[in-house]
Amino acid sequence: MLEKVLEKYELVMGLEVHAQLKTKTKLMSPAPNAYGEEPNTAVSTVCTGMPGALPTLNRAAVTEALKTALALKCDVQTLSVFSRKHYFYPDLPKGYQISQYDRPYALKGRVVFYLNNERREINLTRIHMEEDAGKNLHLDDQGISLVDLNRSSVPLIEIVSEPELRSPPEAVAYLKALRSVLRYLDVCDGNLEEGNFRCDANVSLRPRGHEKFGTRVELKNINSFRNLERAIIYEAQRQYDSLETGGKIVQETRLWDADQNKSQSMRSKEEAADYRYMPEPDLLPLTISKDVIEKARKELPELPIDKMERFIKEYHRSAYDAEVLTTSSDLADYFETVAKAIKDDQLASNFIQTNVLAHIPNVETGIQKFYPDAKSLADLLMKVQDKTLSLNLAKDVFEIMRAEKKSAAAIIQEKNLSQVNDESALLAVVEKVIQENPKQLADFRSGKDKLFGFFMGQCQKALEGKGSPATLKKLLDEKLKG
Ligand code: ADP
Ligand code: MG
Repeated sequence: MLEKVLEKYELVMGLEVHAQLKTKTKLMSPAPNAYGEEPNTAVSTVCTGMPGALPTLNRAAVTEALKTALALKCDVQTLSVFSRKHYFYPDLPKGYQISQYDRPYALKGRVVFYLNNERREINLTRIHMEEDAGKNLHLDDQGISLVDLNRSSVPLIEIVSEPELRSPPEAVAYLKALRSVLRYLDVCDGNLEEGNFRCDANVSLRPRGHEKFGTRVELKNINSFRNLERAIIYEAQRQYDSLETGGKIVQETRLWDADQNKSQSMRSKEEAADYRYMPEPDLLPLTISKDVIEKARKELPELPIDKMERFIKEYHRSAYDAEVLTTSSDLADYFETVAKAIKDDQLASNFIQTNVLAHIPNVETGIQKFYPDAKSLADLLMKVQDKTLSLNLAKDVFEIMRAEKKSAAAIIQEKNLSQVNDESALLAVVEKVIQENPKQLADFRSGKDKLFGFFMGQCQKALEGKGSPATLKKLLDEKLKG
């Protein structure tokens, strides 16, 4: 789609991601950090900016922010500072947002992922903590706007990448990998639609062969992975059209409109000076001791990329398989339990991907309550291994297990579903089918090889689909030749 643009220019992108942390209370206020409540009920005097109300930093939010920084291999700072970032807007009654600015708690770091089987590492610039603002609600039909301060002071971390992303799919892969880390740590829901995981994309074009980056445009209001891709493509094309007709790119913030599939200029990019940053006088600088940092580092769970690379090595999975199977740590556990029990990585991986995942629309949360659970699925697959069931029969049994919440053994017995492996019983069927179809036999013998399938089908029909496919094939091969 962007072929023409990319002939002449290189696409350069950096993402700024705002992730809401899953704490009980807010970053600077004791009010509950709750989503979907009645407007203005989850608030305290701090959230509403009452004169004299003082901020108190939430320790749990700092702990979650710390975990995230360590998981992303950042240099965590033992000392960081909160500042006031001033601007006027009805959803910000204090008139400033408390945010880390020149002394963030985490520097550097990286996000690692696979794109088309290739390992990519994108460097981070920094991560900082800040509080969210409230929300304005515009009731256009009534000509009024309302303010809901439930979101005011909800804890956020802003994760800023270096301008190292080079294609729309790479930006999407980066964002998915980052979200996966946050979900593994259970610090953020990672839901773009609900707005607890928000992404601004900075996009510029650079003439091929040049070293200096072009002017960047910041895209806001991107609420899905698909929209991230579409917004970048639109923006690259827009900048190209402008540059190719002698125009100049203005540094600005543009708002993505998913319904119209285009962006609109929102404001020219404000300079840092416009915000009149100053250290927050009501909060001490934040200190995190080396001991606390090292202890938190030791307590990190296995992270998605590490799990993925372990699956590639230990279970001989492709990067694609490993990525699918590690979409959530619960799914990864499910796979590992099955694979270890049946000692067949390929069978476990295939069956889970084609059969189990087909019934789980939301992989991140769907597997915990799923039946067959890992142990019951392993029991089913062992019936394939000991030839009680063919793979096709196993798929049928799986569907019945799912619907009736019963074990494989119970269903096989109840419905008399075991595979017929007995060679003499199968031979009797083969001979009968051949005898009953002399015309097809003659045609087969005169070269119509395709009729093999017909005989196979007739045999399975007589056996209600329960004949061992391998044995039937062997017997038909022998008998049809005559
Ligand atoms: P601001 O808050 O002003 O947007 P930040 O430093 O928070 O500034 O974020 C800047 C983002 O823009 C980073 O993700 C960075 O990688 C990206 N960026 C910087 N220069 C360019 C450029 N020329 N093209 C694309 N992205 C860029
Ligand atoms: Mg920005």
